[in-house]
Amino acid sequence: MTKDTPAIRLDGLRKTFGSVEAVAGIDLEITDGEFFSMLGPSGSGKTTVLRLIAGFEQPTGGTVSLGGRDVTRLAPFERDVNTVFQDYALFPHMSVRENVEYGLKVRKVSRRERRERAAQALSTVRLDGYADRRPSELSGGQRQRVALARALVNRPKVLLLDEPLGALDLKLREQMQVELKQIQRDAGITFVFVTHDQEEALTMSDRVAVFDSGRLVQVGTPLEIYELPATSFVAGFVGTSNLLTGPVARELVGRDGTFSVRPEKIDVSDTGHPGVVAEVIYAGPVTRFVVDLEAGARVVVVEQNRRTGSAAAAMRGAIVRLSWDEQHVIEIKEKADAA
Ligand code: ATP
Repeated sequence: MTKDTPAIRLDGLRKTFGSVEAVAGIDLEITDGEFFSMLGPSGSGKTTVLRLIAGFEQPTGGTVSLGGRDVTRLAPFERDVNTVFQDYALFPHMSVRENVEYGLKVRKVSRRERRERAAQALSTVRLDGYADRRPSELSGGQRQRVALARALVNRPKVLLLDEPLGALDLKLREQMQVELKQIQRDAGITFVFVTHDQEEALTMSDRVAVFDSGRLVQVGTPLEIYELPATSFVAGFVGTSNLLTGPVARELVGRDGTFSVRPEKIDVSDTGHPGVVAEVIYAGPVTRFVVDLEAGARVVVVEQNRRTGSAAAAMRGAIVRLSWDEQHVIEIKEKADAA
């Protein structure tokens, strides 16, 4: 394996369940040490791809390679990957230490080395001092970290995480997002992270793959995915798209095509395209305005609440003008596959 050998490589990967095509032919390379997220709506095939990489499912077609080696026909335990599931799957009757040591015990690692490595893994996830507790005596976030320690202790080349933060409340989720990212960077392990939460994918990842109906519609950095969405599906799934098309595009953009302007790129100003404020949604740091433009499009505008917000509420029904910088108009070319 050379420096440039991808940690994971999928070639023409397909999986059907009866008549359902869960994964419809995926080609993908994930770089060693990358934090890679798979993002898409429910049922788009993300979990199935993860299970194919782990070896819990056999593909209908195509291959899975890890570190340059074709592992398609190998059993899960023969692959240098570990999986962290959404429900953590901890053993309730074992202590935290025993849970973390379990994988090493199965592999007949000596008791002393087990102790050392478990302590180290628990320290990595900041759970020193919790080794003797049972999972039932921990909070959701702490259980999540035990699950992570249990995977990290095996020192896998690749860690697969299936919605690992899904069961946590928003505050804890945001905290764990930062911690997970730090742990990944420190450990230098390739993370493949499945989520349907676009913000989570954008904040944590080096690159994101967007799934739709078993296909990859775009693979790119968070910035590319958000600022240069390859299709209107990506534009709509990742953020609010404000699509302008047909006669509306001709009038507002000045040419034919499909365009998107993100809500934070639009200004409510004295000049620009006239419209009526249909809805005002106060959301703490920002207020969202839903505006029906005279040209025929409904767009969302986001403004930061830098002043106190009571004036914003009074804008429902008001006639406003919207403007935006030409450079923030994204032209969407419906490429079927940008991967
Ligand atoms: P979610 O975010 O809801 O977990 P997902 O993007 O991970 O969704 P998958 O779980 O990969 O999607 O499912 C993709 C498709 O394959 C769905 O239509 C699902 O119903 C189907 N599917 C997945 N596993 C099986 C199975 N074991 N048997 C039959 N159909 C399955």
